[in-house]
Amino acid sequence: MKRAIAVRILGLVVLCLWLLPTLALAAPTRRVTSFQSQVVTEGRQTFLRIEIGMNGPIKDYEVKGDGILNPNRLTIDFEKAEKGDVRSEIPLDRKFAKTLRFQEMGKKLRVTIGMQVPASERNYRVYTLEKDRRAGKPHRLVIELYGEGGRRGHVAGLKGRTIVVDPGHGGSDTGAVGVGGLREKDITLEVAGKVRDILENSGVKVVMTREDDRDVYGPTATDSQELQARVDYGNFTPNVDVFLSIHCNAFTSESSNGTETYYYPKTWLDSLLAQNLQEAMIEHGDRRDRGIHEARFYVCRHSTMPAALVELAFITNYVEGNLLADEDFQDEMAQGIAEGLANYFAASGT
Ligand SMILES: [Zn+2]
Repeated sequence: MKRAIAVRILGLVVLCLWLLPTLALAAPTRRVTSFQSQVVTEGRQTFLRIEIGMNGPIKDYEVKGDGILNPNRLTIDFEKAEKGDVRSEIPLDRKFAKTLRFQEMGKKLRVTIGMQVPASERNYRVYTLEKDRRAGKPHRLVIELYGEGGRRGHVAGLKGRTIVVDPGHGGSDTGAVGVGGLREKDITLEVAGKVRDILENSGVKVVMTREDDRDVYGPTATDSQELQARVDYGNFTPNVDVFLSIHCNAFTSESSNGTETYYYPKTWLDSLLAQNLQEAMIEHGDRRDRGIHEARFYVCRHSTMPAALVELAFITNYVEGNLLADEDFQDEMAQGIAEGLANYFAASGT
C-alpha cells in the first residue's frame, strides 16, 4: 500500500518535471493584425516596405531566400503564429514583388513573397519593430525589398570583420591638389566615410584613422611619425583583418588617368587583397585599369595585417577630378571597395 502511494507520488513528480519546461517554453500564439505595403524613397534608394503587424513581440521567425528551384522566392516562417483576418494572398507593387501569401502550416505561419529579382541577401532586409504606442503601431515585422542593383550600402560576406580605414593625408597635409583646387585630403575623407557606412551596415567593426580634417599624429610630425600613427590604429586594435588606405592619384601630366592599387608583399594575402580591391573598383568606377603594383609604402609595409593602398583616380585629370568630387562616383567607388573586401575574404579563405 505505502509503496503504491510512493510510486504514484513519484509518477506525479516526474510528470511535473516533464511538463515544466514545456510550459515555460510555450510562447503564446501570435496573430497577424495588420498589413501594409508601400514604395519608399530614401536618398538615392527606392524600395518596397512591407509591414506585418502582430498582437505581441515577434521573436521566433526564420528567413529563407536563395532557393535553387525558386530563386526569386523569399519565405519567412513564424513559429506559433496565425494568419488572423488578413487575406491569404495579397498583390504587391509589381516593380519589386508580385504577391505575398500567408499560409498556416500546423502551428507555423509561412509568408511567401514572389520577388522580381533573386531573393539574395543584397536584395532584401528583414527586421522587427517594437510596438509604438504614440504612432499607434503594433509589433511589426518589416520586410524591405530592393530591385535591380540591390540594397545600397550592404555587402554580404563581411559580417564580423574588423577593418581599419585610413583616409589619406589630412590637416596640415593636403595631399595632391587637382583641378579647380580640389584637395586630395577632402576626397579621401568623403570616400572613406562612405566606405565606413557600407562596412558598418554590413556588420564590420570599422576603425577610422581620422574622422575629420586633421593630422593623425600632429601638424609638426615627421612623415614617418604621421604614418606610424595611422599604422598603430591597426597594430594596436585586436584582430584587425585588413588595413586599407584611400588616396587619389596625381601626376604632372594632366592626361594621366585610371585606377590603381598598391601593396607590399608581407605574405601572399597582400597582393590578393590588392587584386580584389582593384577589380571591384574597376567594375564600379569604370575607369582605366592601371593594375596592382608592389611598392614600399610605409602603411602597407608596417601594418602587421594584409594592407593595401588604393588610388581611386587622378585628381590632376580634368575628367577624373570632376568625378572624384561627384557623389555618385564616390558612392560607386565606396561600393566597389566594400565588395572588393568581401571578394578578398572569400578568395583568401581566412
Ligand atoms: Zn595620397
